[in-house]
Amino acid sequence: MSTAYIALGSNLNEPLGQLREAAAAIQGWEHSSIEAISKVYTSTAVGPGDQPDYLNAVLKISTQLSPSALLEKLQSQETIQGRIRTEHWGARTLDLDILLFDDLQISTPNLEIPHPAMKERSFVLYPLADIAKLEMVLPCGSELGTLLNLCPRDDLLHTQMTLNNNFKLE
Ligand code: ATP
Ligand code: CA
Ligand code: CA
Ligand code: CA
Repeated sequence: MSTAYIALGSNLNEPLGQLREAAAAIQGWEHSSIEAISKVYTSTAVGPGDQPDYLNAVLKISTQLSPSALLEKLQSQETIQGRIRTEHWGARTLDLDILLFDDLQISTPNLEIPHPAMKERSFVLYPLADIAKLEMVLPCGSELGTLLNLCPRDDLLHTQMTLNNNFKLE
């Protein structure tokens, strides 16, 4: 079994429902299960144009999938949930990024782990810190707590919403 952290984001078509549907789908995969769920956050979109705010969360999962198989399954879930790939960083119903996968460092055209932008993103680091120890050392050698201290919270807010309304953690 491997441990992976996955970032979820949505800013279209009832974002909370989108994140809940994605979490329930991941929980339903064979040989994968959710170990922990962060709080749900709101953040301002960074992409082009005037976009709705995002909802963001992070999941910790245990899985027997390989990193590339995990990416494939996440991408098909994005498609199932109606993601249409138009402009880069455009608004989307669902974005599922692999942040970390055990201690692996992967750099291929399709998959980079750790996720290259995670260190600068408050909407990734703060939810990650809900479910990972601040002492956790990333493959780059930095501790999560150090990265958090370097990352302004900006307009990130946590909400009272929860993702596991329709399934239970084991
Ligand atoms: P960002 O990567 O800045 O968060 P994005 O999530 O909007 O941007 P996408 O359009 O969702 O980018 O994905 C573009 C490509 O990124 C995907 O087709 C995938 O192959 C690649 N990719 C590389 N590393 C990862 C990763 N760790 N998790 C998810 N996708 C990745
Ligand atoms: Ca499962
Ligand atoms: Ca992303
Ligand atoms: Ca993505």
